[in-house]
Amino acid sequence: MTEAVSDPAAPVAAPPARFATLALDAKLLRAVADQGYETMTPIQAKAIPIVLDGRDVMGAAQTGTGKTAAFSLPLLQKMLRHETASMSPARHPVRALVLAPTRELADQVAANVKAYAKHTLLRSTVVFGGIDIKPQAAELKAGVEVLIATPGRLLDHIESKNCSLNQVEYVVLDEADRMLDIGFLPDLQRILSYLPQARQTLLFSATFSPEIRRLAQSYLQDPVTVEVAQRNATASTVEQHFFSVTEDDKRKAVRQLVARRELSQALVFVNSKLGAARLARAFERDGLKTTALHGDKSQDERLKALDAFKRGEVQLLVATDVAARGLDIVDLPAVFNYDVPFNAEDYVHRIGRTGRAGAAGLSVTLVTRDDTRLVGDIERLIKKKLEIEPFEFDDERPRRAPRRRDDDDDRREPAYDRPPERRAQAVPADPLFDQPYEPSSSGTPQWEQKAPPQPIRRALSPNIKPKRKVAALLGGGG
Ligand code: AMP
Repeated sequence: MTEAVSDPAAPVAAPPARFATLALDAKLLRAVADQGYETMTPIQAKAIPIVLDGRDVMGAAQTGTGKTAAFSLPLLQKMLRHETASMSPARHPVRALVLAPTRELADQVAANVKAYAKHTLLRSTVVFGGIDIKPQAAELKAGVEVLIATPGRLLDHIESKNCSLNQVEYVVLDEADRMLDIGFLPDLQRILSYLPQARQTLLFSATFSPEIRRLAQSYLQDPVTVEVAQRNATASTVEQHFFSVTEDDKRKAVRQLVARRELSQALVFVNSKLGAARLARAFERDGLKTTALHGDKSQDERLKALDAFKRGEVQLLVATDVAARGLDIVDLPAVFNYDVPFNAEDYVHRIGRTGRAGAAGLSVTLVTRDDTRLVGDIERLIKKKLEIEPFEFDDERPRRAPRRRDDDDDRREPAYDRPPERRAQAVPADPLFDQPYEPSSSGTPQWEQKAPPQPIRRALSPNIKPKRKVAALLGGGG
């Protein structure tokens, strides 16, 4: 049985509480202050006392909510009793294990843990695949209290006897839903079988699917459920629209909405890598500064693309779903679903890139006649009836005239490069961009920012019946 500490229907925002009200050591509070955090995020305010209390936790929270500090700070606090200046590796056994689905998330968690532990003697390190295993082995052999790892590489280290997990007291399964999506369940089961039974286990997941519940039932003991948003819910601060368009008119619809809403930046999601590259080129030709983020680019190209977007040099970032996870972009005003996602849960993740932690956001999904079933899947997941509105173009003229070939080559491609039914197995193993956005200018946490980044002239409930004058509702045409 799980015990809920929050009403899932409660509003997302909780009154901000200060870290100093927590039973945390001065060394940790100093590290938090060094980070510039003043008040706790909702997940932190709820989870930290429970973790300090020694309870298992099932946390419903996405990246961007401050969940890393929500588990790291109380675990570091509990581990302070093991702090030692001894150089002996035997005095620094792994006490806390954090498992993450992607190397970028693992790296990001490790950077946070290091920052929070910087005034303590507790050691931490991160191991993930795709890079030389030897330096990782050396670090593990020297002893670390907190080990952050992706499952596959951790098993390599266990098999090579680079680390022993028999003194682990705390386990965190971060983005557990993503780990199951990628197919890490057997690896997780093996790793968990190496761990002592008596331990505290924390599981964080954006959604609580039946599989996640089964995982929790098997590995958590009497967990407390902590939620900061309704289950499988889309953030209440996101204004969601579904517009019916033809494939040929999608790009024009995006251009017109960007102009009407004066959107400074937006993420545009597509279902295929090929679609992303072509669409980005087409938007460039339309005069919108655009870049694409997908697996066919070199690592260097992708880092440059992401950087340019973070610096605000690029207005549109066309991305496949790999970019949807973990990309923490403060104040991103809008997300477009250029293609309706094959997997309804991806809808929740995609639109979670906007309207973060209380800020206002806009999500626009372009729906063609072929997408009815996929929209139905989304309705079932978020338990809301979605109204599909007709899109009113500014010039009111559908594009019927023959186009120049180079003007529409993105649309001649099939929208998807693999059939929906194969998608579940073909989860992109391309986590490069699951890394956080570091805001460059404003130091104010997004959940404290009162003013929405874009003037949302009128928020439409998705339950409102379709209106004729959509252009007017969206702030255009008077
Ligand atoms: P996370 O969900 O853990 O990936 O955190 C998202 C972002 O919020 C990270 O950049 C954190 O450094 C930042 N953050 C976490 N907690 C706070 C806080 N209490 N105040 C301000 N920023 C925070």
